[in-house]
Amino acid sequence: MPKASSLLEDRALVSGGSGFLGSHLCDRLIARGQNVLCVDNLFTGQKRNIEHLLDHKKFEFLRHDVTFPLFVEVDQIWNLACPASPIHYQHDPVQTTKTSVHGAINMLGLAKRLEAKILQASTSEVYGDPTIHPQTEDYWGNVNPIGPRSCYDEGKRCAETLFFDYHRQHRLRIKVMRIFNTYGPRMHPNDGRVVSNFIVQALKGADITIYGDGKQTRSFCYVDDLIDGMIRLMDTSDDVTGPINVGNPREFTMIQLAETVLKLTGSKSKLVRLPLPDDDPKQRQPDITRARNTLRWEPKVGLEDGLKETIAYFRTILAT
Ligand code: NAD
Ligand code: UDP
Repeated sequence: MPKASSLLEDRALVSGGSGFLGSHLCDRLIARGQNVLCVDNLFTGQKRNIEHLLDHKKFEFLRHDVTFPLFVEVDQIWNLACPASPIHYQHDPVQTTKTSVHGAINMLGLAKRLEAKILQASTSEVYGDPTIHPQTEDYWGNVNPIGPRSCYDEGKRCAETLFFDYHRQHRLRIKVMRIFNTYGPRMHPNDGRVVSNFIVQALKGADITIYGDGKQTRSFCYVDDLIDGMIRLMDTSDDVTGPINVGNPREFTMIQLAETVLKLTGSKSKLVRLPLPDDDPKQRQPDITRARNTLRWEPKVGLEDGLKETIAYFRTILAT
């Protein structure tokens, strides 16, 4: 007979479950037989991301803001709720910090009462504009505490602090994942992130907006790889807390990304220069040694293959 606790281990709460990453995570958890409670206030999430799950007997949607306490019964918590694109998280910066900090406190409190395992979707932004390259998990970061990106960066850093304090103080089983730039189908077409911007601009024949000189770099991970890493992390033994970088170490300049998008879409759009936003990190590349060793994980999808899937998705969205 399986233990009572393992019979119940399958009830997952996904906060931010109707967002880009959250909706893919819900799909994967349902596919492996778990019951999923998707909790989202639909600030940046979209109903269409989870429409196909709404009638599934193992799926439930709850419209709720994680800055308020929540009383439900689950076995594991995936805390993804937080706007992730600069345009969205700077729209209401106070609410962004509240979502990270109060949201973490509420989700950690819930995990404590239920003795549930909890995973935090943290970010490479905890490294700020990094002075070491590539970024390893033991680097403490170079973050401006009072700039326009601080509501997100410092909110996520404080959430990590809370996770580790709940772990030390209350023996909570935590998993902290530092996600690097991820892209794929179901990104919001207007969220201002570079991959969605360039693809939508290319498909519409509009100018491709390069911020600054376009020589700043990012490393782009396809969503399927990222979700695979996330699930592997949650499945590790209790002694694995992270933080752990998950991302694709292949690094590109924004000019290279724009040229690749133009090639794959066959678009004749022109590149235009716009001012670089304040505090925009110059370079970013994850050191994924820890993920390789601990999770036996590394990304499999190359940029061109991932972009093709994403372009196909945006073609459909724009057509409708
Ligand atoms: P997203 O904006 O598509 O999803 C975030 C979801 O959280 C949305 O559905 C939104 O409605 C919901 N949400 C926001 N505030 C909420 C609140 N107060 N209460 C309840 N729900 C709320 O972004 P995403 O790319 O899917 O990011 C998911 C998580 O991963 C975020 O925590 C983000 O910080 C993290 N992350 C993402 C990336 C990336 O490249 N996509 C990189 C680093 C970290
Ligand atoms: N960027 C750009 N053009 C755009 C949108 C973004 O050149 O239309 C740049 C932006 O300045 C940054 C990089 O692309 O250097 C990645 O931006 P994004 O907002 O996707 O992610 P983040 O800066 O949070 O890594």
